[in-house]
Amino acid sequence: MTTALTIALSKGRIFQETLPLLAAAGISPVDDPETSRKLILDTNQPDIKLVIIRATDTPTYVQYGAADLGVAGKDVLLEHGGEGLYEPLDLRIACCRLMVAGDPNHRPRRSRPRIATKYANTTRRWFADQGRQVEVIKLYGSMELAPLVGLADYIVDVVDTGNTLRANGLAPLEHIADISSRLIVNKAAMKMKHVRIKAIMARMAAAVSA
Ligand code: AMP
Repeated sequence: MTTALTIALSKGRIFQETLPLLAAAGISPVDDPETSRKLILDTNQPDIKLVIIRATDTPTYVQYGAADLGVAGKDVLLEHGGEGLYEPLDLRIACCRLMVAGDPNHRPRRSRPRIATKYANTTRRWFADQGRQVEVIKLYGSMELAPLVGLADYIVDVVDTGNTLRANGLAPLEHIADISSRLIVNKAAMKMKHVRIKAIMARMAAAVSA
């Protein structure tokens, strides 16, 4: 008998860029999540399933063991906190930077500048570590709008080319962290399904290095 495995992935960039790494480990999905409405996808291996979830939910599914493995951006992992997870492999995909951004000419009038972000925990921690007092405003998208309409003095967001910032008259100002997607593993699954997970990790690691 082989060990059944569930792997959590989000649609879009992470899914597309993880596919070749999974293929190197001998795993290919039978359905395409961009066209299928199924949330649990079969693979060429009868005992390996993929679950398709929102990027921010991936650490939670793996933490609670609803998925044994997953692929999540470091931005999402920093925000989640990483409890219940191992993070054994940097897949070096979906690379970008977590930055403080804003209008370089803006001078905040408030004693505690307002920072709009969907990364509220990470932002609070980063400013607190530097002894800088800020007010963090939690948003769920379109962060770039916040400084344009006076909701916030700055934003914290992931930046790739910087085109989105530039198109809105904003610029990257301070670097918080380099971001890439990581393979994450449920701690109990790593023990109970060690042989199978180790084999997949080794083949994915070899594909990353190649
Ligand atoms: P940019 O290339 O800087 O214009 O990026 C455009 C937007 O895409 C950013 O505001 C982010 O919300 C998003 N983005 C870019 N790269 C990533 C990534 N690696 N992971 C998640 N979101 C990203």
